[in-house]
Amino acid sequence: MKLPDTIEGCHELIKQLLVVVEGLQREVQDLKDRLNKNSRNSHRPPSTDGLRKPALPAKKGGKRGGQSGHKGKTLKMVAHPDEVIKLKPTVCAACQQQLGGQTDLVLENKRQVFELPPTRLHVLEYQRYGCTCGHCGHVNKADFPSGVAAPVQYGPA
Ligand SMILES: [Zn+2]
Repeated sequence: MKLPDTIEGCHELIKQLLVVVEGLQREVQDLKDRLNKNSRNSHRPPSTDGLRKPALPAKKGGKRGGQSGHKGKTLKMVAHPDEVIKLKPTVCAACQQQLGGQTDLVLENKRQVFELPPTRLHVLEYQRYGCTCGHCGHVNKADFPSGVAAPVQYGPA
């Protein structure tokens, strides 16, 4: 993996990683909460608890989520994603005309999916293009893949 050349770049990477770690922590907590469900805190009947008695409810004031006083961060788009997939309209949505030969493709907007593979942060950028149908004038925009729902997100929705 290539690390940023500048301290500023490193700080930016650290910030991005912190956001990813926070997201993962939330995800782990949610999954733990789901695993801890038993007859006392879910719809399951007591017979499904087995021999292990459910733990007493956590003391009041038990902390969840981020450390208090810690400001949440919003994922920011990166300028140089690791991978770019260009999405282009292929068929006019209005008249079904093939749009293969279009030369007026315009980059409409982008969405980035932040993923943390074993060794490094991988940012996949989807670039959505639009163009006008030469046949009927309808403005067509390619679809983002389902699950790519925001300008920036980590992992699939
Ligand atoms: Zn058309």
